[in-house]
Amino acid sequence: MTDNNPADLGRRTRMVHAGARRSQYGEVAEALYLTQGFVYPDAASAAARFEQAGPDEFIYARYGNPTVAVFEERIAALEGTEDAFATASGMAAVSGALMALLRAGDRVVAARALFGSCHYVLDEVLRRYGVEVVFVDGTDLEQWRAALRGGAAAVFLEAISNPTLEVIDLAAVVALAREAGALVVVDNVFVTPIFSRAVALGADVVIYSATKHIDGQGRCLGGVICGRSDFIRKTVEPFMKHTGGAMSPFNAWVMLNGMTTLDLRVRAQAESAQRIAEALAGHPALARVLYPGLPDHPQHAVARAQMDGFGTVLALDLRGGKAAAFRALDALRIAVISNNLGDARSIATHPATTTHQRLPEAEKAHLGITPGLIRFSVGLEDCDDLIADLRAALQAA
Ligand SMILES: *Cc1c(COP(=O)(O)O)cnc(C)c1O
Repeated sequence: MTDNNPADLGRRTRMVHAGARRSQYGEVAEALYLTQGFVYPDAASAAARFEQAGPDEFIYARYGNPTVAVFEERIAALEGTEDAFATASGMAAVSGALMALLRAGDRVVAARALFGSCHYVLDEVLRRYGVEVVFVDGTDLEQWRAALRGGAAAVFLEAISNPTLEVIDLAAVVALAREAGALVVVDNVFVTPIFSRAVALGADVVIYSATKHIDGQGRCLGGVICGRSDFIRKTVEPFMKHTGGAMSPFNAWVMLNGMTTLDLRVRAQAESAQRIAEALAGHPALARVLYPGLPDHPQHAVARAQMDGFGTVLALDLRGGKAAAFRALDALRIAVISNNLGDARSIATHPATTTHQRLPEAEKAHLGITPGLIRFSVGLEDCDDLIADLRAALQAA
């Protein structure tokens, strides 16, 4: 294989080979360039590189690094964007993309149902710097239309919301955003790069926390901003390289190894998620089972039309409230209590008291983050074991 960007090839091929470059040793696995800087052959070369770095010319790891560049090319090839910029974490990607793009006086329209830290960045940080932020219910197109009537610089949304798994009609929001002149920035963690069709649906910028499915084994933090070349290199890169949210080369190397199995893992996890959701639907201890793959999910049709799969996370709303949710969590034998997701290990979370603790009670109620809600990230264990584990936990609740 000499072509290092096989865009005409399938996803699994791209995830194994895209972006690969080899040193003079011809190593099989990607080289880990654990270096902060690079030596120039002479002073004039240093000056020339600072003036304009060519392809595969690096200056300083905060600006870019060969191992990180392979990761960036590979994820861009997978997502179908022209380019990508790797960041220290998913939140460095979210905050970096928004801060790079916006200035005081700009207006952002965002879906209300967000990951806790995304909510903080929009509600606290951007407002503190003079950006007007308007929140809407993401599944209500009338609210998007009304909010965008005043124009906006950007639209921000999680295509599947955390933790209540609402699915936003991306193509419809993109159409409204276009009219308003807004760039559409999508946090696509819950959709995963495997099921994403965000670019085809018109998203301008697609963000992932690589900490989640891309690593998929709970080891490293990372994030990535995918988009058009001019946006990535002229807007994102200057901001990120001077503010310091670069991805570590070691983490990029771990993520590259994660990507070779990403398709296999995500499909297996989503298949188990569907089976678990179906097995637990109608369970007497549960008020609701939330999973976009269930036909009774309010946005099932939208999910089916805009994603190649329904994701690896489901949510269970226990009738017995917080006490029952805690009893169920404490009774799990296989799934662990933690707050990551997309991991090989199944992970159960109580959003109301952990990831979304910061939200006022009224906002939690509005978002459907009830005291009985458990978010369940489906791992790679035998699905029958997970169903038995959850059934026993619900029994104990
Ligand atoms: C985890 C997560 C993030 C943040 O990613 P980190 O890598 O933890 O910084 C952002 N958005 C969503 C939807 C997430 O699930």
